Amino acid sequence: MTDPRRRRVKILATLGPASASLEMIRKLFVAGADAFRINMSHGTPEARASLIAHIRTLEKETGRPLTVLADLQGPKLRVGRFAEGSIELTTGARFVLDMDKTPGDATRVELPHKEIFAALTVGARLLLDDGKMVLRVVEAAPTRLVTEVVVGGKLSNNKGLNVPDVVVPLAALTPKDRTDLAFALDHGADWIALSFVQRPEDVAEARALIGGRAALLAKIEKPQAMERLHEILELADAVMVARGDLGVELPPEQVPRAQKRIVAMARALGKPVVVATQMLESMIQSPSPTRAEVSDVATAIYDGADAVMLSAESAAGNWPVEAVAMMDAIADQVEDDPLWYARVHFAEAASGATTADAISSAGGAIARTVGAKAIACFTITGSTVRRVARERASVPILCLTPVLATARRMGLVWGVHAVTTRDVAGFEEMVEKSKRMALRTGLGKGGDLLVLIAGVPFSTPGTTNVVHVVRLTGSELTGY
Ligand code: PGA
Ligand code: MN
Repeated sequence: MTDPRRRRVKILATLGPASASLEMIRKLFVAGADAFRINMSHGTPEARASLIAHIRTLEKETGRPLTVLADLQGPKLRVGRFAEGSIELTTGARFVLDMDKTPGDATRVELPHKEIFAALTVGARLLLDDGKMVLRVVEAAPTRLVTEVVVGGKLSNNKGLNVPDVVVPLAALTPKDRTDLAFALDHGADWIALSFVQRPEDVAEARALIGGRAALLAKIEKPQAMERLHEILELADAVMVARGDLGVELPPEQVPRAQKRIVAMARALGKPVVVATQMLESMIQSPSPTRAEVSDVATAIYDGADAVMLSAESAAGNWPVEAVAMMDAIADQVEDDPLWYARVHFAEAASGATTADAISSAGGAIARTVGAKAIACFTITGSTVRRVARERASVPILCLTPVLATARRMGLVWGVHAVTTRDVAGFEEMVEKSKRMALRTGLGKGGDLLVLIAGVPFSTPGTTNVVHVVRLTGSELTGY
């Protein structure tokens, strides 16, 4: 706990075969990972349970709350299997999708999603294997779609299918997702990521199932979600720019502007936003990234994203630790640039003009004016901290909370260093505890100023109403 990260942007590293041991997860943490993503599309329940157990072991070792994000697969569509394992789709040829379980051939294959047939009409596009191949519907019957191959290629068993032109009449959570969700909650996941969100109702449905046991992140990877982005963001606790699938469903040239829009809207609403996928893609194979990848990570940080994510780079690549270290090094450079702070600082008033918003905003302004070294927030639910983070405070935010779950969720929130404390009974005790924690975490030293934000009476969520400035003497470390 004596080495707080000065970095404000968080690093979310996906775990997988290349990073499954406690030793590797520890190395990723040391290199800079703040939060770990477990992709529920892959791996066995035993393997996932083992990853979570390792993260909790590391948490005990380091004394730092660590964040587990369980990413549900969602209604990802897949084609069936082929007699020969794969086929060659010829541009211009006809190809049929049906409900027949017989292994497919060059003329047809099973599409084991009945609901899709009703939704697809003549002219709709189907994208296969991350958009490598394109089909267009020329005849639509209830269990049979005749398509024309617009872009051909090699199609193998169970490849993914995207249907960008329609709202798919599928529930947000498949039966597999429900099982995986129960598993993730039982194993103490802090965040649940919901894939292929299409409608605000999808978020509401998942939230009801989660029932407050974890926070909810909506992945934006469907054009339909872009159309109702504001409503989706209001219902979610955080959002991800899931550029992998988004870039299949949308032409790739439309992804950057979508990314800017999602990041800007999420920041305005005070919801953490993660930029994801292909950030350091070439580091799956190579120990050094391309210049364009470095620039991509830097751009997300200059835009004020709360977190940047690694997928296969840390889960299945040859250089997982180097990829995390590279993100850390990029953040180090960007956050040292005066231009960066001028760009990320956000002074626009919160939409909810509450006392809590005003106090949080004032705390940030005071810290800048007096040159305080940190802003300490006492919080139960974390909402005060998120308000301070929303404006991108000029100094680190020290989150002090008696609730371990709240501390753990902070691994996706910009600029927050979370510490669990025993609950405090009164104002003086809070002041003393904040000073002690600021010293202990190394965020402040004797002579430094500290801004405190809290709600009185204590232990009553939603009462943020105090902002206070104190000077550290350096002797607060003694005594409890
Ligand atoms: P995935 O989501 O890695 O689970 O597909 C991220 C994305 O699509 O970008
Ligand atoms: Mn995806």
